[in-house]
Amino acid sequence: MNQTEQITRQTFDQVMAPNYAPAAMIPVRGEGSRVWDQEGKEYIDFAGGIAVNCLGHCHPALVNTLQQQASKLWHVSNVYTNEPALILAKQLIDATFAEKVFFANSGAEANEAALKLARRYANEHFGEHKDQIIACHHGFHGRTFFTVSVGGQAAYSDGFGPKPGAIEHIAYNDLAALEALISDRTCAVMIEPMQGEGGVIPATDEYLAGVRALCDKHNALLIFDEVQTGVGRTGALFAYMNSPVVPDILTSAKSLGGGFPVAAMLTSDSIAASLKVGTHGSTYGGNPMACAVASAVLAEVNTPEMMANVNAAEVQIRQRLADINDQYQVFAEVRGKGLLLGAVMNDKYQGKARDFLTAAVAEGLMMLVAGPNVLRFAPALNITESEVSEGMDALERAVAKVCQSSD
Ligand SMILES: *Cc1c(COP(=O)(O)O)cnc(C)c1O
Repeated sequence: MNQTEQITRQTFDQVMAPNYAPAAMIPVRGEGSRVWDQEGKEYIDFAGGIAVNCLGHCHPALVNTLQQQASKLWHVSNVYTNEPALILAKQLIDATFAEKVFFANSGAEANEAALKLARRYANEHFGEHKDQIIACHHGFHGRTFFTVSVGGQAAYSDGFGPKPGAIEHIAYNDLAALEALISDRTCAVMIEPMQGEGGVIPATDEYLAGVRALCDKHNALLIFDEVQTGVGRTGALFAYMNSPVVPDILTSAKSLGGGFPVAAMLTSDSIAASLKVGTHGSTYGGNPMACAVASAVLAEVNTPEMMANVNAAEVQIRQRLADINDQYQVFAEVRGKGLLLGAVMNDKYQGKARDFLTAAVAEGLMMLVAGPNVLRFAPALNITESEVSEGMDALERAVAKVCQSSD
């Protein structure tokens, strides 16, 4: 009996906790920026597993690395170190401001480590009173209770009982709001250099520079959550590299593993020193399989050719979106950078982003939304011109259908 023959979308409702509402089709195979479902229908993938599959599906270099490592050593825990973890840490340090690395398995865990480290550091250097964490409305930092409380969406953090304390939220890109709130009691400011889940909203350079200056003035650590923006997504290895500032702590996940779960927290020697033996940990963090794959991802992504492809694909998508909008008038604006782009619904289509996503799937295109009003693009960084073109053709058909049915 072939078990997969009986696995359908209905099975999901029978056996899975109902916290997700996946699309009707079930993908079974992927290659580059193409995916096939159970029925053999082909899709162009502009979703990239939520900005994760930065080299598309089953990239030969990653498959090869994973197979090699799988026949060598899977797991030893952090009671022992391992070569792939040390190689990856060196790579990350060579490529960034960082001097020390902590590995985790997900973005939330990397952020949890960053927040705990910031609290420890402040406590050690300035005293217990310095515990305030400032973050932004509509920010997203993960789903552990600490990170979801620092995230700026009450819908995700409410209803779970008492939250971790000393967390305050302000408007994104509003330097005056931060200036009014920050004080010597502030231990850290956590922000995304471009808000992803919150609607693909880039920070301005002036804002980031101002945040950096205020953090310096009040001895608060600046934490950049680059879980979504990192590893080439915005056309630089990390978004901070195209900004006027360097953070004190940076977190990376999503694209870091290209589809294999891995995350990293990067920081300086002096800040990392507060993570003394036993203060924090993870059984899987730094797992050899994950780290071997991430090393291969970095080697493939961190090249001028790959960054040039990201920028070229951005231009192509923006051009096609402008053409589609000339014809159908659905978007108020297109924002974002590199291959993290958001097409914002205009007044007529408020709250309708998901309708376009559903129509796109029917036309053979996998897309994302970012809230009710933004259609989000996060394709593979190595997507080709013809794949972008095919995907945009499918999107154009989807837009035509949605417009027709709403007239
Ligand atoms: C996705 C995301 C996270 C959470 O990552 P998980 O791997 O789902 O825990 C945190 N921060 C940002 C900015 C993200 O986009």
